[in-house]
Amino acid sequence: MIEFEYHHPTSMDQVFELLDQYGDDSRVMAGGTALVIQMKQRLAQPGHVLGLRKVGGLRSIESTPDGVRIGALCTQRQIESSPVVQEQLPLVADAFRKVATPRIRNMATIGGGLVNGDPSQDPPPALIALGASAVMTSKDGERVVPVADLFIDYYETDVQPGEVLTSVLVPQAPAGSGSVYLKFLPRTADDYATVSAAAVVSREQDGSCRDARIVLGAVGVTAIRATDAEDALRGKPLTDENIRAAAALVKDVVDPLEDFRGSAEYKTDMAEVFTRRAVEQAIASIPAGS
Ligand SMILES: Cc1cc2nc3c(=O)[nH]c(=O)nc-3n(C[C@H](O)[C@H](O)[C@H](O)COP(=O)(O)OP(=O)(O)OC[C@H]3O[C@@H](n4cnc5c(N)ncnc54)[C@H](O)[C@@H]3O)c2cc1C
Repeated sequence: MIEFEYHHPTSMDQVFELLDQYGDDSRVMAGGTALVIQMKQRLAQPGHVLGLRKVGGLRSIESTPDGVRIGALCTQRQIESSPVVQEQLPLVADAFRKVATPRIRNMATIGGGLVNGDPSQDPPPALIALGASAVMTSKDGERVVPVADLFIDYYETDVQPGEVLTSVLVPQAPAGSGSVYLKFLPRTADDYATVSAAAVVSREQDGSCRDARIVLGAVGVTAIRATDAEDALRGKPLTDENIRAAAALVKDVVDPLEDFRGSAEYKTDMAEVFTRRAVEQAIASIPAGS
């Protein structure tokens, strides 16, 4: 482990002062599940670590007219077990429940996961499918970034110097829609996804697709919104044939890395399969009468 000084600010003002003072030589730490490993591997070598745990006001989950506001320091476990999230954002509760093990979920936070920018993480596809946005706060004020625009490249996110992610606003899925998050885990139950897919689908009275949002994880350097597949479904009857044709389109947008979970070709095939299944299961979960 590298040498560093640990600071424990108790307010955002103190965090901003420390970020100003130490600049590039500092990193904020939330749960530490990613940062500590990166420091051990010398992928990150900050001289100053600013622990956020004693900063107040970053751990609440609140229902608002625009959706559910989740504080950046809320742990994954807190989110998956929150009655507000379970009732208003079942897709989000499902995605967080599928992260690793309770040991990780008890430490890892929503803010740390998003800023980490790992494309294999579970929460981003569900958050993007729901149109969530992240609130970035600096000493100059707030900036709201759609989660879809937060990821720039592999482990690279749109977080500017001096900014801290303070909350995530997640709108509810449209009334009458069905949603699902699927994580393909052929190895062990606590692994990262080989491929993942979130889908939110709603339909018209005549059975045609009113809207579809499909977001894939672990098949590119960032989570990928499958807009061609969405466009192919919108306005069409939700038949097996149309769903299969739409799912086939994701093969042109994914660009998975080959690793011990499978070849790029295998993951590309699985992206098509899991897109089809996610759309089918989202449709099956549309409330009766909608
Ligand atoms: C063994 C293991 C298994 C895992 N399996 C999975 C899995 O199956 N699915 C999955 O989705 N994830 C998995 N993860 C990843 C885990 O979800 C991330 O490590 C976690 O989300 C990071 O959150 P954290 O609060 O610990 O972040 P930290 O480690 O504290 O920070 C991560 C990065 O974000 C920055 N940061 C933290 N908080 C903020 C903030 N509020 N504002 C600005 N920057 C911030 C830090 O400076 C650092 O760069 C696994 C991790 C481990 C160790």
